[in-house]
Amino acid sequence: MSAAPAAEPSRDCPACPRLVAFREEQRAARPAWWNAPVPSFGPQAPRLLIVGLAPGLQGANRTGRPFTGDWAGDLLYATLLKFGFADGVYDERPDDGLTLVGARITNAVRCVPPQNKPTGPEIATCRPYLESELAALGERSAVVALGRIAHDSVCRALSLRLAAAPFGHGARHPAGALTLFDSYHCSRYNTNTGVLTTEMFEAVFRDVREHLG
Ligand code: SF4
Repeated sequence: MSAAPAAEPSRDCPACPRLVAFREEQRAARPAWWNAPVPSFGPQAPRLLIVGLAPGLQGANRTGRPFTGDWAGDLLYATLLKFGFADGVYDERPDDGLTLVGARITNAVRCVPPQNKPTGPEIATCRPYLESELAALGERSAVVALGRIAHDSVCRALSLRLAAAPFGHGARHPAGALTLFDSYHCSRYNTNTGVLTTEMFEAVFRDVREHLG
């Protein structure tokens, strides 16, 4: 177990100028929204870390909790509840009382990017926060990467060669005491187009549950 808790960026983290400018636009247009780096959700030293891409504009960027308030959260939290990684009721609000059980959710990029597309330099600039989350994992843990960008950033954070650990839905990649599991991202686009079905998504978390015991 790590001695240090995972680090969180400040609300006004200045490191990515394009994302800072977008954040300021959103603050001016929608002052009631969160409009800041979205902190990770869940207990410290979890056995499961779920890594998404970045906050959704009208989801986590609005509510301030990862995957909360848009379709991706509907599928993710229903799945976590089904496999015992969450407790309570998900109601699309950060004050719905839902808790995570041995699991934590973060994003490869903490600030909402325009068109949901962070640049390579932005992903790299935010990676120290992801590294901090990985360093704070409990022993014999699992990481679920939602989508290729999250997968690639986790691999770089773990010094895994991308060629040796190619992204693929349902793939798993051992990395010492940690195992990286891959899933297509649970976005509305992927589910509407049939790239990802509920059954495919649940199969990944069933694997993780069996792996963790
Ligand atoms: S994406 Fe990460 S590093 Fe960049 S401004 Fe936001 S919190 Fe800071």
